[in-house]
Amino acid sequence: MISLSNVTRVYEGGATAVHALRGVSFTISSGEYVAIMGPSGSGKSTLLNMLGCLDRPTSGLYQFEGRDVGGLSEGDLAELRQKRIGFVFQFFHLVPRLSAHNNVDLPMVFAGIEPAARKTRVKAALDRVHLGERSSHRPSQLSGGERQRVAIARAIVMEPALLLADEPTGNLDRHTGWEIIELLEDMNRHGLTLVIVTHDAEIGRRAKRCIRIADGSIESDAPQ
Ligand code: ADP
Repeated sequence: MISLSNVTRVYEGGATAVHALRGVSFTISSGEYVAIMGPSGSGKSTLLNMLGCLDRPTSGLYQFEGRDVGGLSEGDLAELRQKRIGFVFQFFHLVPRLSAHNNVDLPMVFAGIEPAARKTRVKAALDRVHLGERSSHRPSQLSGGERQRVAIARAIVMEPALLLADEPTGNLDRHTGWEIIELLEDMNRHGLTLVIVTHDAEIGRRAKRCIRIADGSIESDAPQ
């Protein structure tokens, strides 16, 4: 599904260029469960942005489902993200004035899907994260764990192939964090490719494979 070959990312500007990724190569197959770990500043976010097609390599080749991401236009990239990739963030990034239902609906509104189909799919996505009864609540009326469930429902409603989670438990207490991880793992068991960036060694250990990054390079990449 994913293939990186000698991918670099250099941030220009300022007095010196920052080499955030220094020739990264690996592949991820459909259905895998991968943790990406590394110290702050090691390049995890840069790598996740790359995997999520939010960014393009400075050099090297990134192929997503066989397509050269570096060669795609902004419009093609946006469409690829919309259809194939779901994102879950540490701080949820929900729209505060919209209900849980309408937050989950949003990606389908942007994709131009018919209202009747959207309604069915929002309900199914919220049921999937056990939030069916909270659909009319706004984010401020939900707990942190519930907000992250809404964010997960939003991430899966377009039925992506890849789910990218950036420190998904970073803003939650331990117990709630585990519930979120179990939910993500459940999605993975049902076929979704799952990549989690985490600082948390315990969470990192649960993944089937752990890629460690240090100073922009892969330090280790091993099944576990
Ligand atoms: P991590 O997510 O592991 O903390 P990042 O990918 O955010 O690491 O950052 C890797 C390196 O790239 C750091 O040195 C950081 O300061 C730098 N960096 C990240 N984003 C930018 C940017 N937009 N412009 C310049 N430098 C950046």
